[in-house]
Amino acid sequence: YSKMNGRQLLSFYKPEMNRDYNQLLSLEGDLREAISKNQLSLYYQPKVDVRTGYISGMEALVRWKHPEKGMISPGEFIPIAEETGVITQLDDWVLREACKQSQVWIDRGYAPERIAVNVSAREIQRRDYAEKVRNILSETLLDPRYLEIEVTEDSVMQNTEQCIRTMQDLRALGVSLSIDDFGTGYSSLSYLREFPIHYLKIDQAFIKGVLTEPSDAEIVKAMIQLADAFQIEVVAEGVEREEVLGFLRENECSYYQGYHFSKPVPAEEMESYLSKKEKYQ
Ligand code: C2E
Ligand code: MG
Ligand code: MG
Ligand code: MG
Repeated sequence: YSKMNGRQLLSFYKPEMNRDYNQLLSLEGDLREAISKNQLSLYYQPKVDVRTGYISGMEALVRWKHPEKGMISPGEFIPIAEETGVITQLDDWVLREACKQSQVWIDRGYAPERIAVNVSAREIQRRDYAEKVRNILSETLLDPRYLEIEVTEDSVMQNTEQCIRTMQDLRALGVSLSIDDFGTGYSSLSYLREFPIHYLKIDQAFIKGVLTEPSDAEIVKAMIQLADAFQIEVVAEGVEREEVLGFLRENECSYYQGYHFSKPVPAEEMESYLSKKEKYQ
């Protein structure tokens, strides 16, 4: 196990606990058990159309309720899942669960909204990833056009050619693609034209600064303009304030997510959003 692992372990365990290899293994075991015993669940955060104020889709975000440690956030366990390889089972579970839930909502007559799932670097780089997605879609009977896959900018930069091939395969299936956390990785804006994506999600670090940091505002404007030139739609992440929404509206950003509209919520609450159908802003 690498040093990075040690650091992640440090952030996860309380200082009074011994941090060692056995604990990493036990956490890996806990995670495997969580998957098989259904301790994981999905929360959903609406994606909202900036112009109309209607929900246009949602993002599924995994949650882990540990029997002793309580709620553990994905920021803590996703890195460990990635290091130990459990991420394969985890991301499969998330994809299957999100597709099933989406099909349930379609069957109940709610207007089908696109459902986005996050995929880790390791998964998107597998040669058989698109095939796996195709199998899960046919197993859950979800029409591919209701599925969106979010890949972080960082993971596409790790093995760009293989990632692009996989993204093209996914696109050919009819699945939508987003680059997540854009601006935090090492690609440049000119890379945008290389990625076969439909959506660009600007990282919340930039969005939070648009009112106070002139450079953040300029960067966000440039991202929106360039994405527009490549016919890619922009999603702003982490919108917490009405004023930020005003900025996005003025600069013709297409969609946003953030606490201003809603935190990620359990399926029942998402369902009540879907059932209301009025404008929220
Ligand atoms: P992400 O995909 O960029 O998801 C956005 C994160 O920002 C979520 O954190 C969400 O709860 C949070 N967020 C949304 N709106 C706001 C806001 O207005 N203010 C603030 N401060 N935060 C906001 P979460 O759910 O803790 O997830 C963290 C990260 O964990 C995700 O970032 C994603 O990279 C990863 N993740 C979550 N679920 C999965 C999964 O199923 N598979 C994989 N591979 N990664 C996942
Ligand atoms: Mg995401
Ligand atoms: Mg993000
Ligand atoms: Mg993120």
